[in-house]
Amino acid sequence: MIPYSTQLIEEDDIAAVIEVLQSSHLTQGEKVNELEEGIARYVGVRHCVLFNSATSALHGAYAACDLTHDDEIITTPISFVATSNMAVALGAKPVFCDIKADGNMDETLIEALITSKTKAIVPVDFAGKPVAINTITSVAKKHNLLVIQDSSHAFGSATGGKKIGSLADMTIFSFHAIKPITTGEGGAVVTNNDEFARRLRLFRSHGIIKKQLWNSDMVALGHNYRLTEFAAALGLSQLQKIDRFIAVRDTIARYYNERFHNHPLFSIIPIGEDDVSARHLYPILLNPELHCVKEDIFSELQTRGIGVQVHYKPIYQNSFYKERFGEQRLHQTEHFYRSELSIPCHQKMSLEDAAHIADIFLEVLEKYAYRGCTF
Ligand SMILES: *Cc1c(COP(=O)(O)O)cnc(C)c1O
Repeated sequence: MIPYSTQLIEEDDIAAVIEVLQSSHLTQGEKVNELEEGIARYVGVRHCVLFNSATSALHGAYAACDLTHDDEIITTPISFVATSNMAVALGAKPVFCDIKADGNMDETLIEALITSKTKAIVPVDFAGKPVAINTITSVAKKHNLLVIQDSSHAFGSATGGKKIGSLADMTIFSFHAIKPITTGEGGAVVTNNDEFARRLRLFRSHGIIKKQLWNSDMVALGHNYRLTEFAAALGLSQLQKIDRFIAVRDTIARYYNERFHNHPLFSIIPIGEDDVSARHLYPILLNPELHCVKEDIFSELQTRGIGVQVHYKPIYQNSFYKERFGEQRLHQTEHFYRSELSIPCHQKMSLEDAAHIADIFLEVLEKYAYRGCTF
């Protein structure tokens, strides 16, 4: 099976981890600091605070801006549940904004969702394609809101010549195994705001500050959300490869784009000329006449070794959200969920793999196309 995404671990990654395993510090040493500096430099931002996942990083970001009961965030339903879950964990209510045809939050709909309780706008750069961050930040400024960008798909993405991570109040990255680079599990918040960075560090490690000798003081409620030294060593090694990984994924995506251009059964998602996508996913959007056979297409592709996936079931369709916040349907979101399939695109693939995948994909789609759907 060729998975839709996977890690690429090379000899030097392994050597970097082993070196730390044989050293004195498995946690709370220098590697985490070095990786934070490396990421901050790469993104072009003052602070990077590493966490042991993007989920804990999101928890930290929401806590750093005092998100609490009665607050609302405006976010996207086309994301992994963690984006809104960590706001709910602090008692806040997620208000879901409909999306555009590219899977990103529709920035033109945000303003109508703002209430006196809104605290932050939380967009997700779906598949690595940058959201309309300039419009989103100007809406936020006008209404005195924060922008917390969940860029778990978009480490290395850029827009208008600036890296994602330098454009919002706080930006979250994921270093989960299958994300753009990996530390196994891991995540980060990057920010230019000194106070947020200070609070994030406290939240990550029990809220404790060191005073002198044995004396320390716990000044805020915190967790143990620290990344290990060997994970950070893996991250440092992977960080050197980010541009190469993106180049490989981009070559595969451009190859698919050519093969799939103007296809009568499905469409692809174009990336703006001013944008760089980290190409975490390669999504295709089935035309409505294929929606009723999507399960068959999915199963047959899996059986034939193509590890497709669907990103995502709208967050509000999950039982927890329905029970807690009521039933909801957003038109574009529902349409996107019926259309979307992610096909393999990762740095371990060759162009021959991509050609093989494209061949099988087109063959399977054409096989089911004759059945047609009535709608
Ligand atoms: C993967 C992902 C997360 C969670 O990341 P972890 O590092 O696995 O906790 C959050 N948001 C989005 C959009 C993701 O894709």
